[in-house]
Amino acid sequence: MSEKLALVTGGSRGIGKACALELAKCGYDIVINYAGNTEAANKTVEEIKALGVEAEAFKFDVSNQAEVEENIAKIIEKYGRIDILVNNAGITRDDLFIRMGEDKWSAVINTNLNSAFYVSKPVVKIMMKQRSGAIVNMSSVVGVSGNIGQANYSSAKAGLIGFTKSLAKELGARNIRVNAVAPGFIATDMTKDLANTEEMMKLIPLKRMGAPEDIAKAVKFLAVDSSYVTGQVLEVDGGLII
Ligand code: NAP
Repeated sequence: MSEKLALVTGGSRGIGKACALELAKCGYDIVINYAGNTEAANKTVEEIKALGVEAEAFKFDVSNQAEVEENIAKIIEKYGRIDILVNNAGITRDDLFIRMGEDKWSAVINTNLNSAFYVSKPVVKIMMKQRSGAIVNMSSVVGVSGNIGQANYSSAKAGLIGFTKSLAKELGARNIRVNAVAPGFIATDMTKDLANTEEMMKLIPLKRMGAPEDIAKAVKFLAVDSSYVTGQVLEVDGGLII
């Protein structure tokens, strides 16, 4: 049983890992989820435990509803509660729309958008019983602006914004706040092979990529500090889409 617990999907690497560490610093026990890289997940668990809280990694595919339900049930059985959910796990499968096959479309919609439906459903049930909770959905600036080669990804990320606002309206009376963060270009494995980095920097007023920790601080603000904020999309992008 835990006094306060945060669940971060895709919490083994990149932005999710930084969020998990930031919430651990606030005293939350942490469950991270990941898809396949057990070595990275175990390393992250050790780093979180070093901050003096409980930590555990659960391997399951957020795009598979049966796997999600089975694992969330295990987490609730073991820890008794979930106070914060960060719907962070995500992938890219970029291609120009004219060339994009249904495989790339569905992989991204299932992993980046349907996952939030699958994971939030059982988590909201326990939050409703607790009569408190905070959810932060990891959107993207391209969910607001669109992007060439990312019709699948930007559709999923725009979908998360609608999901965020709808849940905020439905769940506010239950003392559950739902917000989103829309990161710009953040230095992680996801962006390490991006071409045209120099061109991109010209578009960013702060003239640099963000760090995962920049996003984690925004997540901490929305999940922990902002008791009267719900239904918002916080752009953390160095000014990219002012
Ligand atoms: P990343 O470094 O590639 O890490 C992705 C994480 O998600 C890993 O922990 C991975 O687990 C997990 N994951 C992927 N597919 C999964 C699945 N089907 N089930 C469970 N876990 C899965 O990515 P990131 O850059 O940190 O991105 C994190 C989130 O921020 C994503 O939603 C992304 O779209 C969003 N975002 C990123 C940027 C950016 O510039 N980086 C910008 C805007 C939005 P494994 O380690 O096991 O693979």
